[in-house]
Amino acid sequence: MKFRKLTPEVIKDKVVIIRVDFNVPLKDGKVMDTTRIEESIPTLKFILENNPKELHILTHAGRPKGQVVPEVSTAHLIPDTEKYLGEKIEFRPDYSKGTSKIQLHENCRFYPGEKKNDPALGQEIFDNIQPDIFIIDGFAVCHRAQASVIGLEGKVPCYPGFLIEKEIEALSPFLTDKKLPGLTILIGGLKMETKVPVLRHFAKVAENILVGGGLANTFQVAKGVSIGESLYEEEELAAAKEVMDIAKANNTNFLLPEDTICAGDIESTDTEEVAIGEVTGNKKIFDIGSQTINHYAEVLKNSSTVIWNGPMGVLEKEQFANGTKEMLMTIKDLKSAKTILGGGDTLKSLKKWNISKSEFSHVSTGGGAMLEFLAGNELPGFKILEE
Ligand code: ADP
Ligand code: MG
Repeated sequence: MKFRKLTPEVIKDKVVIIRVDFNVPLKDGKVMDTTRIEESIPTLKFILENNPKELHILTHAGRPKGQVVPEVSTAHLIPDTEKYLGEKIEFRPDYSKGTSKIQLHENCRFYPGEKKNDPALGQEIFDNIQPDIFIIDGFAVCHRAQASVIGLEGKVPCYPGFLIEKEIEALSPFLTDKKLPGLTILIGGLKMETKVPVLRHFAKVAENILVGGGLANTFQVAKGVSIGESLYEEEELAAAKEVMDIAKANNTNFLLPEDTICAGDIESTDTEEVAIGEVTGNKKIFDIGSQTINHYAEVLKNSSTVIWNGPMGVLEKEQFANGTKEMLMTIKDLKSAKTILGGGDTLKSLKKWNISKSEFSHVSTGGGAMLEFLAGNELPGFKILEE
């Protein structure tokens, strides 16, 4: 893949549309966390410093499901975006053109045609704004074939913003068929469907795969290990077996928890540490145990590169958060290893324990997009950026 590059010449005197990911948490019309706005400011500033004719900003926010939901109007984003950009921004309630140089348009996901990439919506954006170029900076939406992401394909040249450039630079080295010695993948969370493709890839090229979270349960069952009444995904058992077979065939160490923290239900603080094999009856697994923590930490410390996605347990509950915290602290303290992490809930753990992103080599802005990219899938939002 060779991508186009954003340069001053590309922008000068042009009508520019940029698709960012300003999907920030909103409450009573206030932005509760401005991280996603801040992350695209370098690209927005670069555009403005190079004299575009107009700059039109497109984003989604929340889950309005094709309807107008005033609570998640992008009008709420104007004050913070103006503050970080140091410029006035005109709010546009639709895709029509205003009169100012910088215009932020209403939530893309207010349109029923957005998610299904209705060609009429792409055409509407094009006809109204009459752009010369399209820039995409929202890595987190690049795996979505939606109107505001790919609707201008073939109509105008499309360029990656700096956020995308950074992601490509950090994640591309893993798109290889060759064995990468010293590479350890720590993976947890839920939803096998979203993680199996990336596991298939790393079962070939990584040295170690360490599994935790609800994900591990499905692998345990696939191996015939009892997990009591813990949650697992029946329809993913074949995929779990396949991943373990690939790992075996490629000499990849594939590790599952040796012990667990169990309780009768997720609200219970009456927890016990139970060795794997002894998780029987109505016991439910909600975190990894201390032996697993020590073993995984040992592997991580001997790795030259670590990729982490997905919590080790139910980090939302104090009594089941320890495994995730220990893994986070271990990765943070790795001295010379390259460390990469991503995932919505994985990033929440940084906030929860007050760890700065600067402690890691790369913190991806995409959850699903990162997993799909690392699995070797062509992201729709990337396809349009190729030279
Ligand atoms: P990410 O967003 O980082 O990719 P996921 O969305 O895959 O992570 O998974 C995060 C969720 O997994 C969390 O809400 C956490 O509570 C849940 N989880 C982790 N381990 C378990 C478990 N053993 N049982 C139930 N839920 C779990
Ligand atoms: Mg998640």
